[in-house]
Amino acid sequence: MFQPLPKVPDHPAVEQETLAWWEEAGIFDKLREQNRGGPTFSFMDGPITANNPAGVHHGHGRTLKDVFQRYKALRGFDQRYQNGFDSQGLWVEVEVEKSLGLGSKREIEEYGLAAFARACRDRVAHYSELMTRQCIRLGQWMDWDNDYYTFSDTNIEYIWRFLKAIHEKGWLYKGHRSTQWCPRCGTSLSQHEQAGEENYVEMEHPSLYVRFPLRERKGEALVVWTTTPWTLPANVAAAVRPDAEYGLTNDGRWVAVARYPDEEFVETKRGEQLVGWQYGGPFDELEAQSGVVHRVIPWDEVSLDEGTGIVHIAPGAGSEDFELSRVHDLPVLAPIDEAGRMLAPYGPFAGLTTVEVAEPVTAALRERGLLVEAGTITHRYPICWRCKTPLVFRVVDDWFISAQEIRRPMLDANDTVEWTPPQYKKRMDDWLRNMGDWNISRKRYFGLPLPFYPCECGHLNVIGSKAELEQRAVSGLDGLEELHRPWIDAVQIRCAECDRAVSRIEEVGDAWLDAGIVHFSTLGWQNETWIEHGYATGASAGLSGADLPDHAYWEKWFPADWVSEMREQIRLWFYSQCFMSVALTGRSPYRRVLTYEKVYDEHGKAMHKSTGNAIELNDALDRMGADVMRWLYCAQSPSEPLRFGYALADDVKRRFLTFWNSVSFFVEYANIAGFTPSFSSLEPRVSAPLDRWLVERTHAFVRDAESAYEAYDTVSVMKAYESYADALSNWYIRRSRRRFWNDEQDAFATLWYALVQTLRTLAPVMPFITDHLWRNLVQDGPESVHLAPFPEVAQPDRALLAEIDEVRRVVTLAHQARASSGLKLRQPLRRLIVEGANGASAHADEIADEVRAKAVEFGAVESQLLVKPNLPVLGPRLGKELPAIRQALQAGEFEELEGGRFRVAGHELEPNEVLVERSGREGFAVASESGLTVALDTELDDELLLEGRAYDLIRTVNQLRKDEGLQIMDRIVLTVPASERDVVEAHGDWVAREVLATEIRIGDALGVEKS
Ligand SMILES: [Zn+2]
Ligand SMILES: [Zn+2]
Repeated sequence: MFQPLPKVPDHPAVEQETLAWWEEAGIFDKLREQNRGGPTFSFMDGPITANNPAGVHHGHGRTLKDVFQRYKALRGFDQRYQNGFDSQGLWVEVEVEKSLGLGSKREIEEYGLAAFARACRDRVAHYSELMTRQCIRLGQWMDWDNDYYTFSDTNIEYIWRFLKAIHEKGWLYKGHRSTQWCPRCGTSLSQHEQAGEENYVEMEHPSLYVRFPLRERKGEALVVWTTTPWTLPANVAAAVRPDAEYGLTNDGRWVAVARYPDEEFVETKRGEQLVGWQYGGPFDELEAQSGVVHRVIPWDEVSLDEGTGIVHIAPGAGSEDFELSRVHDLPVLAPIDEAGRMLAPYGPFAGLTTVEVAEPVTAALRERGLLVEAGTITHRYPICWRCKTPLVFRVVDDWFISAQEIRRPMLDANDTVEWTPPQYKKRMDDWLRNMGDWNISRKRYFGLPLPFYPCECGHLNVIGSKAELEQRAVSGLDGLEELHRPWIDAVQIRCAECDRAVSRIEEVGDAWLDAGIVHFSTLGWQNETWIEHGYATGASAGLSGADLPDHAYWEKWFPADWVSEMREQIRLWFYSQCFMSVALTGRSPYRRVLTYEKVYDEHGKAMHKSTGNAIELNDALDRMGADVMRWLYCAQSPSEPLRFGYALADDVKRRFLTFWNSVSFFVEYANIAGFTPSFSSLEPRVSAPLDRWLVERTHAFVRDAESAYEAYDTVSVMKAYESYADALSNWYIRRSRRRFWNDEQDAFATLWYALVQTLRTLAPVMPFITDHLWRNLVQDGPESVHLAPFPEVAQPDRALLAEIDEVRRVVTLAHQARASSGLKLRQPLRRLIVEGANGASAHADEIADEVRAKAVEFGAVESQLLVKPNLPVLGPRLGKELPAIRQALQAGEFEELEGGRFRVAGHELEPNEVLVERSGREGFAVASESGLTVALDTELDDELLLEGRAYDLIRTVNQLRKDEGLQIMDRIVLTVPASERDVVEAHGDWVAREVLATEIRIGDALGVEKS
C-alpha cells in the first residue's frame, strides 16, 4: 500500500519531518560513506560573513552550491563539504561597534582592544551557529561541525606566508597616496571594495563658483567651481587645459570659452598662456597656507563638460590633485584628520567636519567678495561599502602589493577557467586588466595583523609563520593569546639586519586576504604532517573540529573543480583567491565558476528593510518552504537579477501540483489495483505505443536534465522538468485513464517508472519533497532518493518523441480553434483538417479522440492569411524600413516559407517577428502557428448534438457522484429527468459504463443512489 496524498503538500511540514528523518537515519553520512574513494569533485566554499542572520540572497547562493554538490554526489563523486565563515575585518567590527554603542575609533580604544576582540569573536560565534541552523533548514548538506573560520591562527599564518613570499618577490611596498577614506571607520578603503554600484548614491552637495584674484592682472580673477568647500582652505593651484580657449569677461572673470558660449569676451588666450600666472588663495591667512605660492598649472584632463573649465587643486584632498602635486611639485596640505575633522592649522575651521565646515567657508568667501555664485547640486557620490558614510580623500601611508608583474600571469590563469555564464569571463579579464595595486592595510583593530616589522635601520622584517615569530621574539610572547591585536602588538622581534628590537606596524589586513587564502590554509598546503582537529586555532579554537591536513591532501584537492559566488565577487573573492594562488603556485585555484546576479523583490526592486520589501530568510522558510525557494532560485537565469517573493512562491506551489497530482493519481489507483512495483526491475518492458512513448520521454528528460546539470545550468533543468511533468500529466495520464481503471499492469509499471525517475532527477533541486515521495513510492530500493544514484538511461528515440510532440501541437491548436468558435470542449464535431504536420498522420485516431472530432484529415486548409508585423520585435531590427514592410504585408504581397517564416519586400521574417491570423471558410474554425494550420468543421447536426448532451450528462453525473461522497468503484442506480429520455435511448449503455450505473431510470430529477 502507498500512503494517500493530501490535496496539496504542506511543504514546511514535509521538510521538518524529512530533516528529522535524515538526522535520525544518518542519510548524509551514509551518502559520504557510499562515495568514499570514488572519483573526486573538489568544491571550495567561499566564506559567508558570520555577522548577521542569513538573508534570502544567501539562500540563493547556498542553494546553487547544494544543488551541484548533491548532483555530483548522486554521480558517485567523493567530495569535501567544508563550509567557511568569514569572521574578521571591517564588517564584523562595524556591527560590534553598533551593538556596543561605540561611535569612533577613540571609543574603541577606550573600551579596550582585548575586550573588543572578544566581542567580535562572540558575535561571530553567535551568528555562525545561527546561520548553520538556517542553512540546514534550507536543505544544505555540509560538514557542519568542521567549518573553517578566517580568523583562526592557521588561516592568519597562511596569509603571513603569502605576504612573506610577496615581499621576497619585491612586490610589497609602502605607498604615500591619496585614497578614499571613510571618516567614520577611520580607514582607507581599496579599489575592489568600493567598485560596486551600490557604493554610490545620489547626494545633494553645495555648488560654489569662486574667484581667485590674479596677482599681476589687477581686477581680473580665475573662476573655479567646487562641490567640496572643505577642500578650498587646502587649495594650492588652479588647473587649465592647455589646448582650450579661455576668455576674460568684461567684469574681470577668466573662464573657458566653451563653457560660456553666449558670453562676450574682451580678451581670449589659449590655456597654455595662462600657465604660471599667480593668484591669491581664498584663505591665505591660515597657518596651513603660510609660504604657499598659488599658480596656474596645465592639466590635459580638465573637463569642458562641467564647471568653468578651471579646476581648483588641493593635493591633500583629492587623488588626481595628489598625482598632479608630484608632477608639478606642489605642496600637499592635509586639511582633515582620521575622523574627517579639520586640523588645527585651519584656524576658525579647526574641529569641524567636512560637512559642518561648508557653511563658514561659504560665508567667509562671501564676506571677502570671492563668491560668484552659491547653490546646490545633486550628483552620484561614493559612500563607505560597510557603514554607508560619504567618503572623502586623504593622503596617507598604506601598504600595497604591486599588481604589475602578476597581471599577465593572472590573465593567463583566468584563461584556463570555465565561467558560467560565459560572458563573465570577460568581466574578470577586464577587472584584471584594470586592477590597481592592492591596498592591503587598514587602520583598524580586529583583523589579520600584518606581520610587518620595519626597523629604523631601514630593513623591513616580514614574519612568515607563528614559529618564526616565536623564534625571533624578544618580548610579549607570554601573553600572546591569539594572532590578533592587542596581544600581537606586545610582541617585539629582533631585526634580522641590526639586532634591534622592532615592533609591528599597527595596521591590520584587507579582509579579502582572509578569504583568498583558504585554498591553502584549509587544505594544509605546506603542512608536513596531518594534525587531527588541528585547524581551529586562536580565535576559532572551540568553534570547529576541522583537521589541518597535510600536503598530500592539498595535492589531491587543489585546485577546486568548482566555486560559485555572486557576480560582484569578480573584483573580490574570485580576484583575491586568484591573486594569491597565482602568486604562490602560478595557477588558478579553481577550474570552473558559476556566478549569479543579485536577489530583488518580485517587482524587480532592490530589497531594503527601509522600503518594507525585504524578506527574512526564516520567514521565507516558514511560509514558502525550502523546496519552493530552491525552485525559485533555480528557475531563473544567473545572468539577470533574481526575482523573489511570496506571489512567485505561490505560483511555484501551483506548478508543482502538476506532478504532485500525478503521484496522487498513481497512489489512488495503484492501491485499488494492488499494484506492487519492484525497484530491481525498474524500467518496464512495454509494448503499447503510449507506454513506449512515456519510457522514451522519460529517457529524454533524464538525459536533458543531466546535460543541464553538467553545464551548471539549473534553468534548463527546471525547463526540462516542467515540460516533462506537463507531458506526463496532460498526455500520458490523460490518455491512459481508462487503462488504470481497467487495471492494466503495464500502465502502472510505466507510470511508476516515470514518477521514480522524476524524483531521482529532481532530487538535487527539491531534496525534501522528492525524498518524502520516494519513501512512499519506493519500498524495496535505497532508503533515500539521495542514496540512489542518478538514473542511467538509454538514448531516447528522438524521432518518436518529435512525432508525438507534433501530435500534441495539433491538439493544442485544435483546442485553440475550438475556443475561438465558442463551442464547448465536450461537443463532438464532424472533422478536423490538418495542414503542415504530416509526421502526426499515423496518430489520426488519438488526435480525433483528443479533439473530439469524428474524423481527422491531412491536407490543405482553405484559409485566408493575415500577417502583421510584431512591432516590439521587428521595430528595433528594421527601423526605417518598417513602414514599407507593413504596407507590403497589408497588401498581401508576401510569400510563406518553411517553418512559419515569411519573405516580404526583400526581407525574411522569423515566426516571432510576425502576428499571423487565419480565417477559414464559412463553417470552419481555423488556428495556425509556425507553419501548422488546423481547421475544425463547426457545423453541428442532430446526431452530434445528441452525443454532446451525452457527454454533458456523464460529466454532471460524475460530479454528482463526488458530491455525494461515493467511492471510485461504487456502482449506482441513476435517475434522469424525462427531458433526457432521447439521450438515454441513443447512448444509454455508454453513459451507464462511464458512470458505473447498473440501471438508468427516468424520473423527475437527476439523482444517484448507491446500488
Ligand atoms: Zn565606514
Ligand atoms: Zn634593523
